[in-house]
Amino acid sequence: MTGRLHGVVAMDGPSGTGKSTVSRRLAAACGAAYLDTGAMYRALTLAVLRSGVEANDPKAEHVALAAVALLESGTDPDAPEIRLDGEDVEPEIRGPEVTAAVSAVSAVPAVRAALVERQQQLIAGATATHGGIVVEGRDIGSVVAPDAPLKVYLTASEEVRAARRGAQDRKAGRTGEPGAVLADVRRRDRLDSTRRTSPLHAAADALVLDTDELTVDDVLAELLRLVQDRGLVS
Ligand code: C5P
Repeated sequence: MTGRLHGVVAMDGPSGTGKSTVSRRLAAACGAAYLDTGAMYRALTLAVLRSGVEANDPKAEHVALAAVALLESGTDPDAPEIRLDGEDVEPEIRGPEVTAAVSAVSAVPAVRAALVERQQQLIAGATATHGGIVVEGRDIGSVVAPDAPLKVYLTASEEVRAARRGAQDRKAGRTGEPGAVLADVRRRDRLDSTRRTSPLHAAADALVLDTDELTVDDVLAELLRLVQDRGLVS
């Protein structure tokens, strides 16, 4: 029997590692809150695209920053809502237009600073109410929650991640054509890991878990063992 989580579990890594699924399941299993920081970058990107400004245009920064005030992020692992000016923007933020543009918007330093501040407030609020929170993203262990008592960095080969992403897309009714998904995974990895402000990398004290040969259940079992071993549940 799993107890309740105390403190922050930071879950980082590139897309297609099963990060979202295991993070939500871990939070649900430990009675903790859950925060999907990628959804926040995606929602700001949607606001930029809707305004008619290109993601690479310098004006995108102003549109994205104005949208931060309109953003609401739910922290319930069973139904993590993301709202923009009151409108539920799932599943639009998962579509190909946002996916293609999100790395450009999330590379803007002022946009990152504003969202990191918002994320830290949400984490403080959730730990005060729930005791614990599982936070997933690219810079959680390195920037957003550097004092998290457990930091996990999930990896998998490009091919395995593209196959998982494609299956997820097809399940959601999107094309998920293998060649296009692999190209997108490579492009986003390159952009996310080479940007100047908080590029994607494992924090020095993160536990790196290669999920190529692991099922979601295997990864969840490993995470539950880790939170128990570190005394983070009671
Ligand atoms: O996790 P997800 O694939 O939804 O994230 C979408 C994009 O948001 C990433 O490719 C990355 O550019 C950006 N992101 C980020 N920092 C985070 C979470 C997501 O830069 N903490």
